[in-house]
Amino acid sequence: MLNDATLKFKPYTRQTIQQAPEWSKLSREQQEAVDIVGRVLPFRVNPYVLSELIDWDRVPDDPIYRLTFPHREMLTETEYSQLQKLVVDENKKHEVDDLIRSIRLRMNPHPAGQLTHNVPHLDGIPLPGMQHKYRETVLFFPSAGQSCHAYCTFCFRWPQFVGMDEFKFDARETSQLVEYLKRHPEVTDVLITGGDPLVMNARSLAEYLTPLLSPELAHIQSIRIGTKSVAYWPHRFVSDKDADDLLRVFESVVASGRNLALMGHYNHPNELEPAIAQQALRRILGTGATVRMQAPLIRHINTDPDEWARLWTLGVKLGAVPYYMFVERDTGPSEYFKLPLAEAYDIFQRAYRQVSGLARTVRGPSMSAFPGKVVVDGIVEIRGEKVFALQFLQARNPEWVRRPFYAKFDPHATWLDDLVPAFGESRFFFESDGVPASDKRRVIALHREDAAPSRAPGMAEQLEAAQ
Ligand code: SF4
Repeated sequence: MLNDATLKFKPYTRQTIQQAPEWSKLSREQQEAVDIVGRVLPFRVNPYVLSELIDWDRVPDDPIYRLTFPHREMLTETEYSQLQKLVVDENKKHEVDDLIRSIRLRMNPHPAGQLTHNVPHLDGIPLPGMQHKYRETVLFFPSAGQSCHAYCTFCFRWPQFVGMDEFKFDARETSQLVEYLKRHPEVTDVLITGGDPLVMNARSLAEYLTPLLSPELAHIQSIRIGTKSVAYWPHRFVSDKDADDLLRVFESVVASGRNLALMGHYNHPNELEPAIAQQALRRILGTGATVRMQAPLIRHINTDPDEWARLWTLGVKLGAVPYYMFVERDTGPSEYFKLPLAEAYDIFQRAYRQVSGLARTVRGPSMSAFPGKVVVDGIVEIRGEKVFALQFLQARNPEWVRRPFYAKFDPHATWLDDLVPAFGESRFFFESDGVPASDKRRVIALHREDAAPSRAPGMAEQLEAAQ
């Protein structure tokens, strides 16, 4: 076990994973699945995840193995066998590429209207690398931060890691962001997201952040950074050669009078148990930054309520704030990972009941859907009808937030689009009249971009706000 700060970062991909000492621990079938499925979906891992986080005696059921290594079941049986046959023939490269592309397009690479409905404009020109879905929060995707220390198999940012350029966006510098923020005093939060912005070196990160600290942008109260580094590469804050410089950058944000919030993506308590992960957390908190914990609920990875309770409890003990349990998004290999909402609600409840009030800052299970973040608040019977009680935690229209609404109970529903209104209503309160319920974007138009969708280069919002 290499639970220390001597480990050097080295990414392994589908093409290089054979060089990792742990590769030989996989069966031939498992190795083949990594090769076949890894052609469709991104795969990247590092020595810390391999040596410290994965328990190889539990493979393939170890949660961190499931979290990082591709599995055969992530494709349909037909897709897998077609690809398996094609890749052995050198002359079939074009057919392989076509098949891979068609599988990727089947996997809904642009969920929740992010390419068409969240793109802000400046003087009528769309701003690539930014998203403005909720009034208070702007998301910014720095080009140098659009990768990760390792890739999660469930990731809804997967298209940008596999070179689907039409689903990718990023911004090279902050001048347009600053200009946009100057004109939008209602924005209080900027979320720097990716990928993982903390793959950037400290100097590059400072170049993005420093302009946001100017007195002209005094209305920006919080800068959030979405990151998985806390779990997948805690060395970033401890022993990387610019780890101390990075912490100084954090301190400069705090010294400007703003809240710096790291949105830490912790999927499983095993990610927080190594000494170096805890040391990283302590060092980040020592700068005056805060750390929140969020993750989706994923079949095969984190469906045990006791593990969620353990994660939140350990996080609180170390000074982090439990924030969100998300519902797995309707993209990528979601058939493999998704859970019915009823099951997600049950898991959340059973975890929530176990923890103290300090950990009950967590919200969930929450769907980052087209109209906003919708949480399943309960499953209840009203006037003889079993229903989901729902509300918006965040919404395109701030007026919708925390307004209760109800959907017919459906034990198989996995996403907001699967739900229909309860009590014989024809539509939810936030839906337009006269638009077929089959139209997943049947939300009352609010913003300019809602009314006149424009296609802009780009992909996804983050796990937090996302996310
Ligand atoms: S963006 Fe987040 S969820 Fe996606 S691979 Fe990177 S760390 Fe994982």
